[in-house]
Amino acid sequence: MGRPKKITPQVEKAPARLPGSFDVLPEQIMSWEVFVEKLHSLAHTFGYSKIETPLVEDARLFRFWQAGSKDKLAAFTDAKGLTCALKPTTLFSLARAYLEYQFPLREKVSKWFYTSPVAYVSDGQMRQSTEYGFQMLGETNPIADSQLINLIFRLFTEMGLPNLSLEINNIGCLECQPGYEEVLRNYFKEKKYDLCENCLELIDTHPLQILACNNLSCSTVSAEAPVIIDYLCDACRRHFIAVLEGLDELNLVYNLNQKVIGKPWSRKTVFEVRAKFENSEVTLGQGGHADDLIQSLGGLPAQALGFMGTIENVLTALESANVKFASKHKADVFLVPLGELAAKKTLRLFTDLWNNNIVASEFIGPGSIKTQLKLAESNKVAIALIIGQKEAREGTVILRDVKSGMQELFTSERIIDEVKKRLGK
Ligand SMILES: [Zn+2]
Ligand SMILES: [Zn+2]
Repeated sequence: MGRPKKITPQVEKAPARLPGSFDVLPEQIMSWEVFVEKLHSLAHTFGYSKIETPLVEDARLFRFWQAGSKDKLAAFTDAKGLTCALKPTTLFSLARAYLEYQFPLREKVSKWFYTSPVAYVSDGQMRQSTEYGFQMLGETNPIADSQLINLIFRLFTEMGLPNLSLEINNIGCLECQPGYEEVLRNYFKEKKYDLCENCLELIDTHPLQILACNNLSCSTVSAEAPVIIDYLCDACRRHFIAVLEGLDELNLVYNLNQKVIGKPWSRKTVFEVRAKFENSEVTLGQGGHADDLIQSLGGLPAQALGFMGTIENVLTALESANVKFASKHKADVFLVPLGELAAKKTLRLFTDLWNNNIVASEFIGPGSIKTQLKLAESNKVAIALIIGQKEAREGTVILRDVKSGMQELFTSERIIDEVKKRLGK
């Protein structure tokens, strides 16, 4: 009998992450956590409650989303033949929950906030991100628009993002928008030789979307286009003026921007919040009304005012602004075991410290004492507890003051009391 043949694992290189998806690495997670924490605390201050909705819904819920979009749902058919889809945005799930649990009977206005993964297919490619947002459903007034914008500006200002801009517009309602669309249609038909291919297709169906096209030639045509403000119905005009007056009251500066047209389901006031940098700009989120949504899903007329963005975009903006957050999980002491027996003793010491409300950071693994002490210093930990082979055998621990480098030897029994004394605990 020969020696058994050594079995090696079958190698197949791991595929890379899908384009259009994100990993959030440990070095980025602090920004993520701080953002979500601020989102929660401000949302509660402004009277919003958290809600969670499922990732997968009956695809019919998203017909509004599909109607005006080139993007496709990430859909599949389940074993019972029902077409399901990953939610492309959270709004529709919120509307469904609002009706399913009869919130209109429970309260005049429901104010919710959320963070949730979303996914859809764009240009044949899956895109996923983590959405965050605020949503009001029920009765609202223009002051609520201003107050929502106030909340969002507070959120981003507290995150340390400079140069925020508020781009605002009013795109009318079902009563006045069709009239304006007709005016636009006629205007763009006259200028059709100056429009890009994409916009040509939009003239008949969604002329409003041409205003948002960033193609240079299209932008030039749009700059001369009739403005919607002149075509708003009385209700929309009054609403818009009240929102702007509210913003003046809050000393929030805004830019009236015809290119901001919201989503196909948007009505009345629409807005975007952007962070501007020297050579770039990040859209942190967009807001507005979806006032026909609840009714179109079988509910009684209800207003829907909200704001949503992706956390990935917020992180991109924070990186561009070079905003960094320190970890809040600061250790009190740093454990430095040298060798295997010492590492084993450290397990007990770590637990004893923990039981006494002392947070220890351990580095059980290879590495010289020098690198470990450097690590302690860079983590601003005041005390290092060193256990070498000799100390491990004798049941002692070396306490080192990281800053001064002064060292003292203690027995394992006394070390906890000594650390407590030095930490003032
Ligand atoms: Zn109107
Ligand atoms: Zn165009």
